[in-house]
Amino acid sequence: MRVIDVNEIQSIVKELFIRACTDINDDIMDSFVKSREREESPVGRAVFDQLIQNAEIAQKESIPICQDTGFSVIFLEIGQEVAFAGGLLRNALEEGVREAYTEGYLRKSIVKNPLTSPENTKDNTPPIIHTDIVSGDRVKVTVLPKGGGSENMSRIKMMKPADGVEGLKNFVIETVKTAGANPCPPLLIGVGAGGTFDYVAFLAKKALLRHIGERNPDPKIAEYEVDWLKEVNKLGIGPAGLGGRITALDLFIELFPRHIASFPAAVNIQCHAARSKSYTI
Ligand code: SF4
Repeated sequence: MRVIDVNEIQSIVKELFIRACTDINDDIMDSFVKSREREESPVGRAVFDQLIQNAEIAQKESIPICQDTGFSVIFLEIGQEVAFAGGLLRNALEEGVREAYTEGYLRKSIVKNPLTSPENTKDNTPPIIHTDIVSGDRVKVTVLPKGGGSENMSRIKMMKPADGVEGLKNFVIETVKTAGANPCPPLLIGVGAGGTFDYVAFLAKKALLRHIGERNPDPKIAEYEVDWLKEVNKLGIGPAGLGGRITALDLFIELFPRHIASFPAAVNIQCHAARSKSYTI
């Protein structure tokens, strides 16, 4: 059994959130550059120029890519040969978020009570934590600061099994079309299908962790990803919603077995501030 001190995890979480909010991943930056070349609209190309410049300034000066530094979402893949010491893992994760958002001067966006009080928690806690138990003695920590504007345009739907592939495709296209300029395109589109009402939303969010061009290992599903991305990019919403060919940079589908009577589907939209970072300890 390998023992990991939770204080190490706390430091990793802090570092990852600060870096995620300020240092755009290479695949997103490369996609901005390539998409700028493919974009036919002059206004769209100008938007890409601004996105590239914005990301470069953020990297150079260690300032946030966007003022909305998001809800703090953490994914943990925990090897089953790991034991944690030095305190409660949840407390360490919360403390890592607290330190990142206070010491990193990131905007605190979380209100304590969604119904009765707009009081801010003042440190962007609590994080949302997703855990998976895997083989081995390592822990992979992934953080995803999720902006509110793109989250607001995401959708979940309990479809009928008979709706099939065509029904899911229509749901995805309709969701992006309805979203229009609101989620700050160009987008990443995470699609979940199967599981239960709660799990399908997780699948759609997990899909957003894939890198640009990283296809589903099932060739048929990979084909849907490419085809549906083309359909989305025919909508003409374009960069910043100002018209153009590039509404989305990529589309990822994650599946899970479903109940014979159910067909849960979810579309989690990610904005151009598509931020995530990982570290394996
Ligand atoms: S949706 Fe994304 S780009 Fe738009 S304001 Fe929120 S975090 Fe920023």
